[in-house]
Amino acid sequence: VKENGRSSYQFYNTAMAKKTYERLALERDLRLALERKEFLLHYQPQIGLETGMVGGIEALLRWRHPERGLVSPEVFIPVAEESRLIVPIGEWVLYTACKQNKAWQDAGLPKVQVAVNLSIHQFQHAEIVDTIARILRETGLSPQYLELEITESIAMHDVEQVIRTLQALWDMGVNISIDDFGTGYSSLNYLKHFPIHRLKIDKSFLDDMVSNAKEREIVAAIIVMAHSLGLQVTAEGAESLEQVHILNGYRCDDVQGYIFSQPLPARAFAELLEKRKVY
Ligand code: C2E
Ligand code: CA
Ligand code: CA
Ligand code: CA
Repeated sequence: VKENGRSSYQFYNTAMAKKTYERLALERDLRLALERKEFLLHYQPQIGLETGMVGGIEALLRWRHPERGLVSPEVFIPVAEESRLIVPIGEWVLYTACKQNKAWQDAGLPKVQVAVNLSIHQFQHAEIVDTIARILRETGLSPQYLELEITESIAMHDVEQVIRTLQALWDMGVNISIDDFGTGYSSLNYLKHFPIHRLKIDKSFLDDMVSNAKEREIVAAIIVMAHSLGLQVTAEGAESLEQVHILNGYRCDDVQGYIFSQPLPARAFAELLEKRKVY
C-alpha cells in the first residue's frame, strides 16, 4: 500500500510537472508570436434578420503556431490573459480589425461594424481610451464602425471606473456590446447604469431553445427587456434554421452562427461581403 501511494504521488508530480512545462512553453511561444507574425484574424458575419444581409462582423483571433498548427483561442487566450500578453496582442487585434474594415470600405464594399473582443485586462488598462482613439486615427476608420465586446465580468470590478471608461468610449462614438449575456453572475443590475448598445445572447441559450419551452421563454424575455432598454440584440451560435425562425419570431435583431457562416479568413469574407445578402 505504501509503495502504491508513493508511486501515485510520483505520477501526480510528473503529471503536474508536465502541465507546468506545457503552460510555460505555450507562454514562451506566445511571447514571440507577435513579432513572428503568427496571428491572424477570422471574420464571422452577423446577419440582420429584417434585411437578410450582413449587418456586422466579429473579428476572431487565430494563432498559427509553427509546430502545433492552428491553436484554438480557448487554449491560448487564457494563457495570454494570465500573462497579461493579452494587452499587446489585443492591441494588434484592434488595429488589424480596424485597418481591414477600412480597407473593405475603401474597396467599395458595404460599410458595416466590426466587433472586437476586449479582455478585462485591456479594459482596465489606463490607456485603453487613448489607445482606441489612436488606432481609429491611424487606420482612418470612423468610430461608428467599431464595436467593442466586453463580458459581464467587468461588472464585478470598480463600477465607477467601468462606467467612466464606457462613457468615454460611448462619447467617442464607438459601440459597446455585452458578450455572452446571461452566463455571468450580475446580469441585470448593471444594465441600468452602463452605457451600452447591444446584448449578445450566449450560445448556451440557443442550444436548448428548440426542444425546451422554458429556454425559449428566457430568450424571448431577454429580447423584450433589451429592446425596452433601447438595446439591440444579437443571438450567437445559431446552427439550425429552426433556431433562426424562432429568433425571428421574437424580433431578435441579428444572428451570428454556423447556419449562416463559420468565421472566415479575410479574403473569403470579402467575397461574402460583396454578395452581402446571405439568405
Ligand atoms: P466569443 O467571443 O463568444 O466568440 C464566439 C465563438 O463562438 C467563436 O469561437 C465562434 O467561432 C464560435 N461560434 C460562432 N457561431 C457558432 C456556431 O454556430 N456554433 C459553434 N459551435 N460555435 C460558434 P472562437 O473563434 O473559437 O473563439 C472562442 C473565444 O475566444 C471567443 O468567444 C472569445 O472569448 C475568445 N476570443 C477570440 N478572439 C479573441 C480576441 O481577439 N480577443 C479576446 N480577448 N478574446 C478572443
Ligand atoms: Ca465575442
Ligand atoms: Ca460570445
Ligand atoms: Ca464565449
